Amino acid sequence: MIDLRSDTVTKPTEEMRKAMYIADVGDDVYGEDPTVRELEETAAEILGKEAALFVTSGTQGNQIAVLTHCRPGQELLLEEESHIFYYESGAVAALAGVQTRTIPGQRGAMDPQDVLNAIRTEDIHFPETGLICLENTHNRAGGAVVPVENMKSIYNIAQANRVPVHLDGARLFNAAAAAGVDVKEFAKNTDTVQICLSKGLGAPVGSIIAGDAEFITTARKWRKRLGGGMRQAGVIAAPGLIALTKMKDRLGEDQWNARILAEAIEAIPGMKLARQPETNIIVADVEGLNMTSDIFVERLRAEGIISGTFGPTFVRFVTHYDVNEDQIQKAIEAIAKVARQ
Ligand SMILES: *Cc1c(COP(=O)(O)O)cnc(C)c1O
Repeated sequence: MIDLRSDTVTKPTEEMRKAMYIADVGDDVYGEDPTVRELEETAAEILGKEAALFVTSGTQGNQIAVLTHCRPGQELLLEEESHIFYYESGAVAALAGVQTRTIPGQRGAMDPQDVLNAIRTEDIHFPETGLICLENTHNRAGGAVVPVENMKSIYNIAQANRVPVHLDGARLFNAAAAAGVDVKEFAKNTDTVQICLSKGLGAPVGSIIAGDAEFITTARKWRKRLGGGMRQAGVIAAPGLIALTKMKDRLGEDQWNARILAEAIEAIPGMKLARQPETNIIVADVEGLNMTSDIFVERLRAEGIISGTFGPTFVRFVTHYDVNEDQIQKAIEAIAKVARQ
């Protein structure tokens, strides 16, 4: 089976497994796990932030950020198809007690003017705007890179209005690879950032949230409250360190494979791209084949290729460390075969 559902399916490399075996550990709730500390310090430095916190997942990281920045009854501004709004089981309402106000985006980017217009003024009837969330790369926009300039404009508006900004950077390293800039260029236009170690970077578990030291101290308490205080977590932080220091430099390969796959899909009669891929995510439209995405995905699976539905006629493919160029060629043959059926 060639699994193109998501870059989360990557398995830890041999180097990661060895690092897990030999990792120096301690009780991280007491702040005594040297490997977790090293991971947090390294991540803070790479992201250009004062401090960082190792959390169990991207969702937990985003939720801790919302809980730390906001108070119940406040309003959260975010893009209408953002992961925090679309895919986190309503957690911001269930946990943080904030209401969401969504803004439509263009390839994942909100218009700064729309953000400015949505920020609440002082009025007894209004909720306070508690936080603005950005996402980069933008998942539902097909791995689109939100330009640094767009983030900068929104951050300037946010700062002028004293509203903090959080970046859901689950795939921030893919954005940096595609834009050819350092992740710091994105991260400096936000107060806090979440990155996933377990997607394209290939670690088995975990995410990082980063921000100033005061934010991380409060975030650490929220993590404990949510049951995310882990003990000898060095065994999972060790592969995270490899993900951060080594795997980030190979994401260009995934992008290259995505290009090859996207060009082949475009050439298949009846198939088209929902949008041009910018990173490792490809969204194809199968409407022209008179098939639903469910049927397409099922037939493709019978050919040994796993993909995912992304709408009634949209199918998503994600390239990652565990698929090489040969396997991409096999996937292309299988997709063409299903399209002919
Ligand atoms: C995957 C993802 C998350 C959540 O990460 P989990 O580790 O699966 O909880 C958050 N935001 C975006 C944009 C994602 O793609």
